[in-house]
Amino acid sequence: MGFGTTILCGLLLLPCCANQTGKPEAATRLERYSYAETHMGVPFRISVYASDKVVANKAVAKAYKRIAELNRVFSDYLKDSEVTSLRTLPAGGQVQISPDLAALLVRSIAMSQRTDGAFDVTVGPLVRLWRRARRRKQLPEPELLAKAREQSGFRLLKLSEQTLSVEASSIRLDFGAIAKGYACDEAIRVLRVGGIRHALVDGGGDIAVSEPPPNRDAWRIQIEPEKKGEPAAALVLKCQSVATSGDRYRFVEIDGKKYSHIVDPRTGLGLINRLTVTVVAANATDADALASAVSVLGSTKGLQLIESWPGAECSIRDHSGKDVRVVSSSGFARLVDAAASDESRGQATIPDGP
Ligand code: AMP
Ligand code: MG
Repeated sequence: MGFGTTILCGLLLLPCCANQTGKPEAATRLERYSYAETHMGVPFRISVYASDKVVANKAVAKAYKRIAELNRVFSDYLKDSEVTSLRTLPAGGQVQISPDLAALLVRSIAMSQRTDGAFDVTVGPLVRLWRRARRRKQLPEPELLAKAREQSGFRLLKLSEQTLSVEASSIRLDFGAIAKGYACDEAIRVLRVGGIRHALVDGGGDIAVSEPPPNRDAWRIQIEPEKKGEPAAALVLKCQSVATSGDRYRFVEIDGKKYSHIVDPRTGLGLINRLTVTVVAANATDADALASAVSVLGSTKGLQLIESWPGAECSIRDHSGKDVRVVSSSGFARLVDAAASDESRGQATIPDGP
């Protein structure tokens, strides 16, 4: 386990030594409560262990409130989100931004630097062109692609504390590859403040877990088996996160080539490498961003990045050939339990939420 994970677990322990009733936890039986609400365009499912439903409801309501608050900052669909409001900044313009936007920009710019620009939240103009290409089933026109590339590039952003300056006009920030992960981390943090130590937050496939269910060693989260027909395996996680990126459902096929919704910022083109990347990391913000970055970097460079990232592991499925080829980082197998069931989806055994 990496350094980052150890810190996260340590922090989790601090405010949670006693439950809401003030009794030591061992004296109180914890029940599982599960919830689902749509946020950021995906179902956010939260499962928590709490002493009673009132405690669970209260903490989970605050977690959802926090996710909704983050959506109002990071959404590129909402006309009045903070990110949308930045689009009108002129070249050389400067603006004060919220602490959340500043915090996630710092993480995003650091991720761009660590990935040689494979991950880049300034890809908005390119993503927009490829969304249009999906609708029209036509490749973006070269002139439009060239213009969108001029309006993209993390080096066009200058951040000093909470002051953001942009060096080009029509900047479109796109946090689609990192904001759901950040929202999962924030939900886990808010739950912890609300006295919930054992939680799972699933933001449409980006999943963060805190401490394992009571009397269990870990959360078990189902993953696809390596080969079709093999029984499903599970990832065994505690105080960790997992995210998956790929073009399984969001792509456009033009002249026999499938272009992904993930764009290589260095070429402006939708990916055609046909990878599905699953990353485990100490937190969901990193897992989400790393899964997208590794998709762009490809298997070789992607694995190198993951091996150098404390607490991170990954599995990459390559669907480009007749058979699916799977490569994994050195510690990934240790996180897999071939015989385990899926605890992120075990609705049947869960008491109803509110
Ligand atoms: P994910 O599903 O987490 O891999 O995120 C994909 C989404 O992130 C896309 O739909 C875009 O909105 C955005 N995106 C696409 N390419 C990139 C990239 N290279 N770096 C950062 N964000 C990207
Ligand atoms: Mg991502």
